[in-house]
Amino acid sequence: MKKRMLSLLILFLTFTSNTFAAEPSADGQTLVNLRILETTDLHADLINYDYYQTKMDNRIGLVKTATLIRLARKESKNSLLFDDGDHLKGNPLGEYLARIRGMHKGKIHPVYRAFNYLKYDAIAIGNHEFNYGLGFLKTALKGARMPVLNTNVFSVKTNQPYFKPYTILNRKVIDQSGRSHELKIGVIALMPTHIMKWDKANLEGKVFAKPMVETAKEFVPILKAEGADIIIALAHTGISNEPYHADTENAVYYLTQIPEIDVVLAGHSHSVFPGPVYQALPNTNMETGEINGKPVVMAAAFGSRLGIIDLELSNRTGKWRIVAQKSYTKPIVDEKGRSLVKTDIGLYKLVKEEHEETVDFIKKLGL
Ligand code: MN
Ligand code: MG
Repeated sequence: MKKRMLSLLILFLTFTSNTFAAEPSADGQTLVNLRILETTDLHADLINYDYYQTKMDNRIGLVKTATLIRLARKESKNSLLFDDGDHLKGNPLGEYLARIRGMHKGKIHPVYRAFNYLKYDAIAIGNHEFNYGLGFLKTALKGARMPVLNTNVFSVKTNQPYFKPYTILNRKVIDQSGRSHELKIGVIALMPTHIMKWDKANLEGKVFAKPMVETAKEFVPILKAEGADIIIALAHTGISNEPYHADTENAVYYLTQIPEIDVVLAGHSHSVFPGPVYQALPNTNMETGEINGKPVVMAAAFGSRLGIIDLELSNRTGKWRIVAQKSYTKPIVDEKGRSLVKTDIGLYKLVKEEHEETVDFIKKLGL
């Protein structure tokens, strides 16, 4: 009898504490709005500047996207910011730092300095991060203050993931009634296996790449077992419904079919999703930005757009569930190339030294 009383008491305590944690509102619903922001394929375009023509270009630059980020954060109680990779290389600033000047001792690479300033929650490694070799990448990454993720590149020596394969972000979120909850957001990151061809000289014998979809399937149960309420894939890969094969360069379509993955941040192909390029894709809703029922966003490249996914999460049963989702992108210029946002002056000042050095260097070359 005593035992029964005790188990009843435990049951009661468990039940009441769960109920308390979820704090359902009068109608039994606990609703949390969560906004997910994406930059992708920045290719070292921190400044609104065209180094090839040595003139301002308001169609590119994280100093512009940063203003969209600030506005998007202001509109939402809860938001997260991610970069989808290919951020170190692709313009003369990146080249100058990696190949000419080198990194100054004790100084953080301006790309990661910018990411720290904007308080990214996690970032993905893109295929172009390997272009300057693993040594440069490792040195540069020391300055990044957020989790730097990749799930499908493995060390030849240890047969273990070469980077941090995933993270679980514990975030306090505020529900629609102003109450606070803890949400566990699992994040994985993937890139095309083609890196082994594209960067053979830098990578062979050191790392190897596993297929994106198979690797994602292998890892999501681990994140779930560690309590992830939702899972976001930072997918540095494009969108195509070509018949699936393990070494596809464009895995997003098949990643959306993995049940445990809730959100896919796409990249690599420098295009815009939702957008007309993908109009013919099956099981795709261009209004809500869903593929196979999952929200997907791809924010072009060079900081020209910010990707936004708005989620509404419900906790009626003690388990978080996405009940509404919409994805879209916002540009930094209109169709005529007119600027829609101001420059983030704080960010500009933070990275202007390297920018000016690069411009001086180009001018000295007489290019
Ligand atoms: Mn790219
Ligand atoms: Mg890429």
